[in-house]
Amino acid sequence: MGVLFDNYTIAQTVQKAVSFEKTPFVIFTPNPEIVQAAKKDDEFRCILNQADIVTPDGIGIVYASKILGGNIRERAAGFDICCGILEHLAQKGGSVYFFGGKPGVAQAAAEKVRETYAGIRVCGTRDGYFNAEQEKEIISDIQEKCPDLLLVCLGAKKQEMWIANHKDSLHAKILIGAGGSIDVLAGKTKRAPDLFIKLGLEWFYRLIKEPSRIGRMVQLPLFLSEVIWKRGKI
Ligand code: UDP
Repeated sequence: MGVLFDNYTIAQTVQKAVSFEKTPFVIFTPNPEIVQAAKKDDEFRCILNQADIVTPDGIGIVYASKILGGNIRERAAGFDICCGILEHLAQKGGSVYFFGGKPGVAQAAAEKVRETYAGIRVCGTRDGYFNAEQEKEIISDIQEKCPDLLLVCLGAKKQEMWIANHKDSLHAKILIGAGGSIDVLAGKTKRAPDLFIKLGLEWFYRLIKEPSRIGRMVQLPLFLSEVIWKRGKI
């Protein structure tokens, strides 16, 4: 459907990012819902495909690959990649900037991350609701702090467009469009229990916890139906 996924494990993605061989290094984390949106939106699809790594963040992508004879065998979720990079940066005394979420969420994520990843430097936090004037302040704050890792959590499309527009001027080394990961890091929402993740049912757990997502989640069966239809044409 036009989105070019990389086939790396979580550990490989973390390793590539923290090698700092290329900066800025951009990671996008599309799930089936994002692929559905990108399919109809040339600009968005093009921006997704320009990332250094496009990681399969959603079991639906793994199923699609299997159905279409591709070789993606496991999900490499954005949240797990963030945790892997944070762990590495903690060991090296690296820095992270949290950008996004409702007011207070980025600070809460900073506090939790300081507790969990001793040695990490949280060099900035900022919520994800801003006007044009505030956006200029956010950009100059990030430029001043030069974070090793910038988490941009503004929701799908907005965060990818924002990263694409600003990555070259921010002086951030690794940028990841991490969506709701900031809420999980802040302890505002919980990740699904391991069993749900192992069974590929994290989406179901999220739906039970946030039934209002049903409108967005109908994209998953629509996506898989289209994949099966494409399989029939091969
Ligand atoms: N968000 C934001 N600014 C916006 C829209 C959303 O900071 O203008 C935040 C929202 O508060 C949430 C995050 O973006 O913390 C991601 O939201 P979503 O549930 O859509 O995440 P995803 O499904 O992409 O993980």
